[in-house]
Amino acid sequence: MENTTNKTNILKNCKKCGKTKDIELFRNQSNSKDLKFPWCRSCQDKESKNNYLQNKARRLELVKNWQQKNQDKIKIYKKNWMLRKKEIIQKSDK
Ligand SMILES: [Zn+2]
Repeated sequence: MENTTNKTNILKNCKKCGKTKDIELFRNQSNSKDLKFPWCRSCQDKESKNNYLQNKARRLELVKNWQQKNQDKIKIYKKNWMLRKKEIIQKSDK
């Protein structure tokens, strides 16, 4: 067996960008076959950023819809919350 480098560079093909990169550029993932995430770090970062932005927009939309449908509930909830807040303030304000 020939050992030309001290550090063995294991390469892995990124499933996202298709580039072959050093295994060190992949994050660990305990439940995957080779314990590495199938995407390289930069792809993962890009994707999580995209997902975050998409989810954020989607969540805002969902909240908006929910609020429109549940205006009465929200009113009651806010009222209850204000009452509780008052109570807390009164208790702590001796
Ligand atoms: Zn990649």
